[in-house]
Amino acid sequence: MVVVMEMSSSNQQIEAVNLKLDQLGFQTQMIRGVKRIVIGAVGDRRSSDILELQLMPGVEKIVPIMKPYKLVSREGRDENTVIKVGNVTIGGDNLAIIAGPCAVESRQQLLTAAYQVKRAGGQIIRGGAFKPRTSPYSFQGLELEGLKILKEAAQATGLPVVTEVIDEGSLQMALDYVDMVQVGARNMQNFRLLKAVGQTDIPVLLKRGMSATIEEWLMAAEYIISEGNGRVILCERGIRTFETATRNTLDLSAVPLVKRLSHLPVIVDPSHGTGDRGLVQPMSMAAIAAGADGLILEMHPEPAKALSDGPQSLTPEELEQVMGQLSLLLPAVARQLPTNAIRESA
Ligand code: PEP
Ligand code: MN
Repeated sequence: MVVVMEMSSSNQQIEAVNLKLDQLGFQTQMIRGVKRIVIGAVGDRRSSDILELQLMPGVEKIVPIMKPYKLVSREGRDENTVIKVGNVTIGGDNLAIIAGPCAVESRQQLLTAAYQVKRAGGQIIRGGAFKPRTSPYSFQGLELEGLKILKEAAQATGLPVVTEVIDEGSLQMALDYVDMVQVGARNMQNFRLLKAVGQTDIPVLLKRGMSATIEEWLMAAEYIISEGNGRVILCERGIRTFETATRNTLDLSAVPLVKRLSHLPVIVDPSHGTGDRGLVQPMSMAAIAAGADGLILEMHPEPAKALSDGPQSLTPEELEQVMGQLSLLLPAVARQLPTNAIRESA
């Protein structure tokens, strides 16, 4: 359930309610919205407790939450959550564009890509330092060296960076170098990793597992938030279906559905979602039209030479074209891109 506090409730009243919930055996979490404060309370709900809480000074109402994902659910929080990654906001009016290569391959490659992303109007740079590959013989990532290169790119361009973490060790390493961590599709139900990122306060880009239902995906987000880190951004990246013509089937209906079910921001990855660079632009447009808060796009300075995911990586010119097309959609979806994005890609 959530305890919704009155707008005028004092800190003392909020603390008293928190204490009472604690005494009644609830696990609590304070959610401070722009308009009001609500206290999420997970535990066994008895009607006598509800009555007692309802009568406490400063309490407006008690709302039971039926969904199994209590903290993620929109039932407990009406307003959209907006998450700051460096100076970029995700989930508000801003359309957040994350772009960069699948993997950090070298200092030269990543720095070149980072400047290309910036020029095109991208706001966050991506690049994998730890690559979870299907084959143990494929390129596994530069690990610590990759993290150092990402940090250098962030400092050189002024843009924040995101990288995937694959276990608790890589998470601890990444915390010193990046602005956001990604939990990839293959690790969406790695519950120890979810708990570990939940115990930090770094923003987490949580990809949908390749055969995860929406409820399983939202429960994965619940794992993170229940550990105390509310800075979760969901990412639809395609699911496995019978179709083999595309790498995955990009489930765009997930975007408005998840936004109905949850207050968390939702972005889309049309690169892994299709596996085909020729489909990235139309699916980017479709994702934004469906209400996505942003995109994560693979772009490589020379896709033909990429060590991973070349066929789905845009060229720098194609990234600029996608940005130009997106700017045409902005009035229709009442969103904004930073002015440099519009100017540079027009
Ligand atoms: C990636 O972003 O490079 C990646 C491996 O993504 P996913 O986990 O969605 O496959
Ligand atoms: Mn990739």
